Amino acid sequence: MSQAKQPIAIAIIGPGKIARDQHVPAIRANPRFNLVASVSNGPGLENLPVFASIAELVQVGPRVDAVAICTPPQVRGPIAHAAIDAGLQVLLEKPPAATLGEFEAIRHHAAQRGVTVFATWHSRFAPMVEAARTWLGDHKTRSARITWRENVRKWHPGQHWLWQPGGLGVFDPGINALSILTRICSDPVTVLGAELDIPRNCQAPIGARLSMMMNDAAISADFDFRQTGQDIWDIEMETMDNHRLVLSRGGSRLAINGAPAQSAPEAEYPKIYQHFATLIDSRNSDCDITPLRLVADAFLIARTTSTAAFEP
Ligand code: NAP
Repeated sequence: MSQAKQPIAIAIIGPGKIARDQHVPAIRANPRFNLVASVSNGPGLENLPVFASIAELVQVGPRVDAVAICTPPQVRGPIAHAAIDAGLQVLLEKPPAATLGEFEAIRHHAAQRGVTVFATWHSRFAPMVEAARTWLGDHKTRSARITWRENVRKWHPGQHWLWQPGGLGVFDPGINALSILTRICSDPVTVLGAELDIPRNCQAPIGARLSMMMNDAAISADFDFRQTGQDIWDIEMETMDNHRLVLSRGGSRLAINGAPAQSAPEAEYPKIYQHFATLIDSRNSDCDITPLRLVADAFLIARTTSTAAFEP
């Protein structure tokens, strides 16, 4: 007779906006997980024990098997290494690290210790992304246009870390578009040029325009945090056989050749935790760094313009 699996005891590190909005409800709705604690510089999550560090969690806290690291990227590396040293399975919010090298070290360390690392890209779990990928499997891309414009004051009020080195600025949402692009298209994407608008009192861009290439297809991206009207999170693609695909609203709506858009209920984080459980059970990792590499390449070759000061 097969025995029911014991729930995976998980702690959240950095219980901020995304942890509370998405991780806590997704974990609590998944019977494979049991949320047992948080690690926080503050009071932590309500009605759960809170610890100042992974070391303290492991030494004096409840039994824990896994952690979800939901801090800003700049502090993620040392936290991930501490979790791996403690033998914990690790889920990383996006972007998985502050630099490519830092992520490679995390991946290598986890492989040596035999623990799972899941570098999440939540937008890849948006409802229509897999349908777009399947459709594009039968059509060669001729061109693509990404428009990812949102009001930073609405979505990121008071988030000073976004504007510090390693905070990515407008690439924090823009990398979501790149994570979708590199999921729905299977060929390598190259950054040819980038223009970054950097507020004169900040270390990260508030606007970015990228030109990219995939085989012979030209791909443009327009990322902007200064949107004042409706947010736009769209990818439009034309194919060599004259079809048109529009994946809009962050991957939640798909329209082919102007037909009424298809959609499905949003369940990005529930799917993330289903995948994390599968990875842990099968002792595998999921460590795709491609979206962060495209952002790093854009920073490497960008022309920069200093723009008006911005107060988060
Ligand atoms: P946040 O609320 O500003 O910060 C998350 C938490 O991290 C803070 O509440 C804080 O918790 C902890 N922390 C540790 N070191 C910190 C530092 N140096 N500066 C600020 N906070 C620090 O951020 P968030 O919006 O949840 O985003 C966290 C990560 O999730 C980012 O990588 C972001 O790209 C990603 N993400 C965010 C969203 C979103 O909608 N906000 C969506 C998807 C992904 P304690 O004070 O309790 O320690």
